Amino acid sequence: MTFKEKIARFFMGRNGPDRFYRFLIICCLVLLVINLFARSAVIYAAELLLLGYAFFRFMSKNLYKRQAENRKYMELENKVTGFFRLQKRKFSDRKTHVYRTCPSCKKHLRLPKKKGQHNVCCPVCGNNFSVRV
Ligand SMILES: [Zn+2]
Repeated sequence: MTFKEKIARFFMGRNGPDRFYRFLIICCLVLLVINLFARSAVIYAAELLLLGYAFFRFMSKNLYKRQAENRKYMELENKVTGFFRLQKRKFSDRKTHVYRTCPSCKKHLRLPKKKGQHNVCCPVCGNNFSVRV
């Protein structure tokens, strides 16, 4: 068995790098840079804990649990990135459209920017409500 085959066999069935792993490593790097200036033992300990957890996740053979953790992380990440994506769209459409939230299903609706009181029918839940633009 060659060295390459031994390495491949060692990593077989392990979780390996995923999005959550990448996030943990980036957090470690950010803490490392912060600690260059702060020189705090608490930050150093947090860095080691994060690095240890990232390594544990990387080497774990309990794929079901690690994938569930990764899924939860991705849901959270999507919420955060979705919020910023919406803000970016609101800003780029600010001259032609307004964004309002449906009071019953809380979906964001993109409405043409026409001044006055308007009746809106939500395309998701069919709720009728009035908005003032
Ligand atoms: Zn709705």
